[in-house]
Amino acid sequence: MSTRIAIAGGGISGLSLAYALLDKNPSLDVTVYEAEHRPGGKIYTEKVGHYLCEAGVNGFLDNKPATLELAQKINLPPIRSNDNARIRYIYFDGALRRIPTDPAKFFLSNFLSVGGRLRMMSEYLVPKKVYDDETLRDFAVRRVGSEFYEKLLDPMASGIYAGDPEKMSIRSCFGKVYDLEQNHGGLIKGFMAIAKEKKKSGGGGKVEAGPGGTLMSFEKGMYSLVETLAGILGPRLVTGKRVSGVDKKGTGYTLHFADGTQAETDVVVFTSPAHDTAAAVKEMDADIAKMLDDIPYPALSVVAFGYRREQITRDLNLFGFLIPAKEKRKILGTLFDTSIFTNRAPEDRVLLRVMIGGMRAQERAMLPDDQLIELSLSELAAIADVKADPELVRIYRWEKAIPQYHVGHYRKLEMLDAAAAKHKGLYLGGNAMRGVAVNDCIGNGFKLADQIVGDLSK
Ligand SMILES: Cc1cc2nc3c(=O)[nH]c(=O)nc-3n(C[C@H](O)[C@H](O)[C@H](O)COP(=O)(O)OP(=O)(O)OC[C@H]3O[C@@H](n4cnc5c(N)ncnc54)[C@H](O)[C@@H]3O)c2cc1C
Repeated sequence: MSTRIAIAGGGISGLSLAYALLDKNPSLDVTVYEAEHRPGGKIYTEKVGHYLCEAGVNGFLDNKPATLELAQKINLPPIRSNDNARIRYIYFDGALRRIPTDPAKFFLSNFLSVGGRLRMMSEYLVPKKVYDDETLRDFAVRRVGSEFYEKLLDPMASGIYAGDPEKMSIRSCFGKVYDLEQNHGGLIKGFMAIAKEKKKSGGGGKVEAGPGGTLMSFEKGMYSLVETLAGILGPRLVTGKRVSGVDKKGTGYTLHFADGTQAETDVVVFTSPAHDTAAAVKEMDADIAKMLDDIPYPALSVVAFGYRREQITRDLNLFGFLIPAKEKRKILGTLFDTSIFTNRAPEDRVLLRVMIGGMRAQERAMLPDDQLIELSLSELAAIADVKADPELVRIYRWEKAIPQYHVGHYRKLEMLDAAAAKHKGLYLGGNAMRGVAVNDCIGNGFKLADQIVGDLSK
């Protein structure tokens, strides 16, 4: 009999893991159990009238290989965002301000005050600190100064994690930045060393100050990745089946489902959100459940607005904007979807998506629909001069949106790994562990598939 592998959670982590396992060994008996009737978790694309609305994930960057590799294997051609995706704004002191992406232009611009720029450059002289972990805020203020932190890093933390930089772990959320200090003594020193290395290897010496890479998606939106994987998995993906408990049975496990049924398996992998996994494993291992349950997942709502292009008078050549917490606005930021990917609506239409909530304003994400719409529209008018009446309004609520890696997260992972290792054939995956970006979820799915196949061959 071939080895039975059950995966709880049919988000991109679970689907890509299942695909990678079967790719390595087609004789494995893999089943993905997804609690909802629709797979994909935080990835869902809805076609509403003229508009292609992303309910959650907007795209992925091409500077990490995993999603592109998977897309190539499953014959799903990716599309590139257009040049507008590089034009990003931050709102402060009552106006939207463009972020210069070239480091020299950034230094010469008045994005930061003269004092702020000098402080940023003196990062070169800040001595290396050897430490276990620290908050994003403490790290940033120590190395680059409070103005750079407040105007750039704080809004970036909202944009990626909807997080609170006073709690977020620099080591787990921005590992590469942590490594620059640990390996090169500082950020500028690190960038210089990388540029030198790149030049030596013939890759040119340019290092971008903004988020590197190009944003990618698919013609019909991110959900086509989920649909294609679901099509390949066929009956191996079972939807509407929530794993509610797990028991050890002999050398394997018995899974209990919320509908009262059961299934036997040799290996079980949880890629469900940490709190859901905690609920399923708590009878078997209360320590694992407690550690998982402690990972916060703030609420986030996405409010999409569609307009006829002639209604919008402002410049539309931009990716969007983010807002530092210090500004005390009611939204986190806005993406100009039709400026990023032209296929999100016909030429004569404009699609914007407003983000509300996150770790510092969770209650706001869960306001009633009419209040969410009203506050989004009034903020769009005040901040971005978008005052028109939208012809489309859609609200996508994520009550538990994105796991937060708070200070000490890496230690929790070490303890979780050690605790899971006590249960042969039990694995923990998903975005609560080692990266929230789709690229990380897929890359970690590939790694986990290697590990499982390796363990099975021992
Ligand atoms: C609004 C928003 C925008 C985002 N934008 C981007 C972006 O543009 N780019 C990017 O790279 N990342 C983005 N992210 C992050 C990214 O979406 C996620 O980290 C990633 O999709 C998570 O995939 P996952 O499979 O680990 O988890 P999930 O997508 O949460 O999937 C977990 C699945 O498990 C299922 N489940 C739960 N409990 C059980 C159970 N007991 N039994 C069986 N199944 C269960 C759930 O129903 C769900 O389908 C965004 C996230 C949000 C919320």
